Amino acid sequence: MISKNLVINSIEELINWVASKEIKIQLDSAASILVQVFSSNCDPEWMLAIESNLRPMMPQAVIAGTTTMGEIAKGKLFIHTTVVAITFFDKARIQGFLRHKDKKEVDLGIAFAQKIETDCQQIAGTMLYATPNTMNVSLFLEGFSTARKGTYPVFGGGAGDYHVVQKPVIMLNGEYTSTGVLAVVFMSDDIQIDVRTYLGWQALSKEMVITESDGLWIKKIDDQPAFDVLNRYLDIQNDDEFFYNVLVFPFLFKRDGINYAMTPIEVNDEKAIKVIMNINEGESVCIGYGNPAIIIEKANDIQNWVRAFNSEAIFLYSCICRRFLLQGEVDLETIPFETIAPTAGFYTYGEIVSQGSQVMFLNATMLAVSMKEGCGKKPKLEAQIEISKTDPRDPFTSQHTRIITRLVNFIKVVTQELEEANEEARRLAEQDYLTKTNNRMKAHEFIKNEIERSKRYELEFSIIMLDMDFFKKVNDTYGHNIGDEILIYLVKLLKLEIRKIDMLSRWGGEEFLIVMPLTDKEGARITAERIRAVVELSLFPNAIKQTCSFGVASYQKGESIEMLIDRADKALYEAKLKGRNCVVTK
Ligand code: GH3
Ligand code: MG
Ligand code: MG
Repeated sequence: MISKNLVINSIEELINWVASKEIKIQLDSAASILVQVFSSNCDPEWMLAIESNLRPMMPQAVIAGTTTMGEIAKGKLFIHTTVVAITFFDKARIQGFLRHKDKKEVDLGIAFAQKIETDCQQIAGTMLYATPNTMNVSLFLEGFSTARKGTYPVFGGGAGDYHVVQKPVIMLNGEYTSTGVLAVVFMSDDIQIDVRTYLGWQALSKEMVITESDGLWIKKIDDQPAFDVLNRYLDIQNDDEFFYNVLVFPFLFKRDGINYAMTPIEVNDEKAIKVIMNINEGESVCIGYGNPAIIIEKANDIQNWVRAFNSEAIFLYSCICRRFLLQGEVDLETIPFETIAPTAGFYTYGEIVSQGSQVMFLNATMLAVSMKEGCGKKPKLEAQIEISKTDPRDPFTSQHTRIITRLVNFIKVVTQELEEANEEARRLAEQDYLTKTNNRMKAHEFIKNEIERSKRYELEFSIIMLDMDFFKKVNDTYGHNIGDEILIYLVKLLKLEIRKIDMLSRWGGEEFLIVMPLTDKEGARITAERIRAVVELSLFPNAIKQTCSFGVASYQKGESIEMLIDRADKALYEAKLKGRNCVVTK
């Protein structure tokens, strides 16, 4: 396999290049030829002109193109250009498929995967380009994943355009669409395709929960309109600049142990935010930001891997937001690939990648695709690669990434500190100062939740109210400090006697409440009786003997929290009247 790529600005430049000796010599010997066109020009005529001019020079080639938001050739970013990457295969066969979206995305995905697997044998990998502004690529890939039988790697990207107003275009062999998908299938038992991805994004905000979502539209986050949340943190307006302003602050989330990022793309009148990956209610997200230090470090790891793989051709599909984030230093991430093998690709509007049988549509990700035939030969690289101008070791050229790295770290630490402080404040607000067990407020909240749960799932629960007998006398005889010690000791005893799911609280003075989920009246009575006996037999600090009285009540349908507690209180009062050191149920 030999891969060559060039930035062209005119058809004439293209023709001269293809007619040159370096290309011509490959044309005759190649088993198949793939031409990839990555172009900033959204006029389909331009893509068609490239195809029709190349066709007579390489009749057998598969020519596939997509519009982009930044082109990569020789490992570097080019803007407002067209990159043509030609790959000559020694043995592998390739076949292209283009489909206009003529049915629902899921069905299109199913039909597309079936068509590919019927027409092609020995599939070693499939490259996909799609048009995410005009169709739901996530759903398409869902269908594609369910129908495909193979586990060959699938990779590619979403067609974009620089201004997000024109229509992106994908083209195959002279046919094009602005709403559809394109595949190039690689077939051979001798070709190896390896796909690596990495993110390098870091959480900035606290974790928030998606409380209302409709697949691609996030409606509410933490019960607030999704846009209000973005606006609060980022001071972002819902105007023409929304996409660009929010681009480098994707939502980060974890699903099945894998980290994902998704970039908001638009806001509607109901303040819902559109994303390109389906997100479900109940999933947690953070607002994130790229940490250039981590990105470059991860890029290095991948580059080492690709080098060891003996890659003969490298294709990069990188999210547009990485370009925005790294700015002048964007090439730091891509140029080192060119020291391994010829590297071309584009900045995308979403990255397509398979993980096992699933093919997903991602955001904010860098996708590095390595190819080789056989064991791979060391490609002859054309020219010395110049990375000195963005060399990270030069203290004056990498200010942008340095500053961002520090700022991201700063925000991360401040957020962490605040979260810890909040957590501590929450804990203190719910805790009794003397005994360190839950306080009355926490108990109230717990019972409220139990009532909700019991309504929803028809579950039983009970409460035990207990009060020290003649505690005033303890204080009077031994002093308040000993009284305090006895209260602390009682909490220790009680904790040993209840289950993990039970909840102990100090309801007031020397009165405690135990909430027992999934427990009926009889179960609670038996527990109360056991605690009563344990207290009676225990020696408290200063060798003091002490007893308690107990009131037990089980939750009855339709009851309020106050009614339930009132019944337990009455039972306790009766226990006191009965002579104390006993259990009464209500
Ligand atoms: P009984 O409940 O059996 O009727 O008698 P009692 O003496 O326990 O009843 P009462 O409610 O009249 O007295 C409760 C006592 O508990 C009064 C108060 O001094 C004591 N107490 C309440 N909170 C604390 C505390 O935090 N520390 C100490 N040492 N004593 C407390
Ligand atoms: Mg008492
Ligand atoms: Mg009392």
